Amino acid sequence: MEEENLIERLRKGEKIICDVCKKHYYDVSYENREISNYFHCEDPNCKGYVHIQKSIIVE
Ligand SMILES: [Zn+2]
Repeated sequence: MEEENLIERLRKGEKIICDVCKKHYYDVSYENREISNYFHCEDPNCKGYVHIQKSIIVE
């Protein structure tokens, strides 16, 4: 899945341009970014973000 791929790259600290504003990058400056499932755009006025849900299979 595309978003999962993006998250992997963001976790490694890669600068990826926001898909919403196409001007700013997703914020990769936080401490726990390696385990984060959520990254938002650096621009506080932009609503862009990438998020993945951990796939937990409940039977
Ligand atoms: Zn943005």
